[in-house]
Amino acid sequence: MSFERVEQTLQADLHERRQQQRYRSQLLVDSPQGRELNLDGRCLLNFASNDYLGLASDPRLQQAMKKAVDQWGVGSGSAHLVCGHSRAHHVLEEELADFVGAPRALLFSTGYMANLGVLSALCGRHDSILQDRLNHASLLDGAKLSGAKLLRYRHADVEDMRSRAQQTKSLRLIATDTIFSMDGDGAPVQHIQQLADEQSCWALFDEAHAIGVSGRQGRGLACVSDKNWPQNRIVMGTLGKAVGVTGAFVAGSELLIESLIHKARSYIYTTAMPPAVAATVSASLRIIRHADDKRQHLAELIQYWRAGAQQSGLNLLPSDSAIQPLLLGSSARVRYYSRQLQQRALLVGAIRPPTVARGSARLRITLTAAHTKAHVDRLLSALCEIQQQESGHENVA
Ligand SMILES: *Cc1c(COP(=O)(O)O)cnc(C)c1O
Repeated sequence: MSFERVEQTLQADLHERRQQQRYRSQLLVDSPQGRELNLDGRCLLNFASNDYLGLASDPRLQQAMKKAVDQWGVGSGSAHLVCGHSRAHHVLEEELADFVGAPRALLFSTGYMANLGVLSALCGRHDSILQDRLNHASLLDGAKLSGAKLLRYRHADVEDMRSRAQQTKSLRLIATDTIFSMDGDGAPVQHIQQLADEQSCWALFDEAHAIGVSGRQGRGLACVSDKNWPQNRIVMGTLGKAVGVTGAFVAGSELLIESLIHKARSYIYTTAMPPAVAATVSASLRIIRHADDKRQHLAELIQYWRAGAQQSGLNLLPSDSAIQPLLLGSSARVRYYSRQLQQRALLVGAIRPPTVARGSARLRITLTAAHTKAHVDRLLSALCEIQQQESGHENVA
């Protein structure tokens, strides 16, 4: 086969994506992350990021990082198990363990790598893993990498989860997002923990969208406050969303963390995050512990948005988190809405298959503590306008 044939296959695949309105490209941003983004010389109001507390360009954290770079330099030099594990990493791990109430925590370079590492370290080809159907791609990919059998239960459905668990012999781990990334709703955390206890297996809670925003002081939905950490509980949290920086951690028992250090290949065979990044995350955690005002403001904005959207007849999903998807159905409609919003200087996530199921394409609108009610009003009135305009020409979808 000539290499031209190889290229033709790729071309055909891209062509098909274009035909299906699934073609994607990066936006080019010329400003720091924040409430407003500069895109191609235009200023857009940003409802697309996961920077839920507006910390990604917080001046206090910018200062903290500059200072940390002066102290630690820019690179970590190697993996954690060689010579890349600095005091800054060590201190942050202790702070993160304390934050979620776990005996110990371990840093990973990204949440994607953390999930791959945990699943492939703890599960093998003779095991089964049970997951919510709407779990994040990294949890699904981790299960694949482990070689275990992957069983998926209907979204947040405790009955279905239980009956599938009872049908499998070698259940090793149950995994769930605690707040679902594309739907914004929550998982039945207590039920999952209970089932994992009954089945004597691990319970893995992915707190990517909860750390910093949900639970007391933003400690997440699977945090423990009385030092009674269940031996089988694993929390994964990301540091690039509400925490505003980058990276991730896994928290759990001493035995879990020691095992990950020896077995999680995405921990072992990769360069440690720069120590200055770790120090910046520490500074962010100090802000987050005392950010009840930001979380309160965000909660009020969410209520305000939902009331307004309901009044305007917009098709909201049942979410009370900062993730507020607007279900549109077809990819074509999502593209139409997102383009129309961009013309009105508003940016939202345009989420299409395969990220979500066929026929459930949506706008992923995210609110942050940096928004005001006036910003929400701008978004609401633009959406109403587009809705009316759309019913004027029936051929959009
Ligand atoms: C974003 C996300 C991840 C991956 O985290 P990164 O640090 O961005 O790699 C994992 N799980 C969920 C649910 C996420 O939303």
